[in-house]
Amino acid sequence: MSLLTVNENGLYCRQGNFYIDPWRPVKVALITHGHSDHMRWGMQHYICHQHTIPILKLRLGIDQSVQGVEYGESFEINGVEISYHPAGHIIGSSQIRLSYRGEVWVFTGDYKTEPDGVSQPFELVPCDHFISECTFGLPIYQFPKSSNIYSQINDWWRSNAQDGYNTVLYGYALGKAQNILAHLDQSIGDIYLHGAVANVNEALATIGYSFPGVHLRSDMEKSKIEGAVIIAPPSANGSPWLRKLKPYREAMCSGWMQLRGARRRRSVDKGFPLSDHCDWRQLNDAVIATGAQKVYLTHGYEDNFSRWISENYVLEASVLKTLYNDGMEDVE
Ligand SMILES: [Zn+2]
Ligand SMILES: [Zn+2]
Repeated sequence: MSLLTVNENGLYCRQGNFYIDPWRPVKVALITHGHSDHMRWGMQHYICHQHTIPILKLRLGIDQSVQGVEYGESFEINGVEISYHPAGHIIGSSQIRLSYRGEVWVFTGDYKTEPDGVSQPFELVPCDHFISECTFGLPIYQFPKSSNIYSQINDWWRSNAQDGYNTVLYGYALGKAQNILAHLDQSIGDIYLHGAVANVNEALATIGYSFPGVHLRSDMEKSKIEGAVIIAPPSANGSPWLRKLKPYREAMCSGWMQLRGARRRRSVDKGFPLSDHCDWRQLNDAVIATGAQKVYLTHGYEDNFSRWISENYVLEASVLKTLYNDGMEDVE
């Protein structure tokens, strides 16, 4: 009997009678991170990393029953030893390690092995069974170093400002937005935030995070804003809220932007391939480095990646069907 299986509610540990990132309401939910495909509404009790708590309260309401854990701290539920380890995906994101009768399982949630300078860097957790996401599990996804992309973003902002244009950067409000903000060259101009981004920053400020930028409120005089950068979620693309900031140039910041055509389909001026997930190479390296003999792939190109692993490594790989999908909301 496997320690973790998938049933109609989510990823289930029968021995401990709890779920990880369940998609239907259950009693006890271990949560890897605050993105909406992993942290859903309706659980009786949530257990997440300390830094996910303000996000959970912002998104699900302040009256939730929630317990925070630190990275590396272990606790038990019905004999199953549980600990959370940095996943390097967004602030608070965790891999969840389960150990029972000498067998170790790790579920990655979403992860990225390249440090982003904002979230706690990914920690390699040795295990026997490794359940890995594979959002970018195709060889075509090889992301450039993010430091290069941030300098391109700053260069582009600078030249837009010189031309008298504002710069709009689209990125998911939780994760991408903070990473961009942490790397903007504030000497270029002013930084403004869409409400969705400002709300997340405000929640994170309660636990000591600080990011630059002014909440762009509806009553603010937009005509005076010039040469600034505006950070907004992808859903703000084409909204009347933005029209008042004309003239502007706009760019999508997402791992999907690596593919030609993705930018055109989004009808923006530019695309920056900035991701908070592992690319192809990072996924391969992580799967091997864990030392796991059994690997389960989910959340992405699981069929292809599972076949690739079975054919190229001495490992048993299989597909685990789940409902995790950052899709268009996260626009990773
Ligand atoms: Zn995520
Ligand atoms: Zn996800």
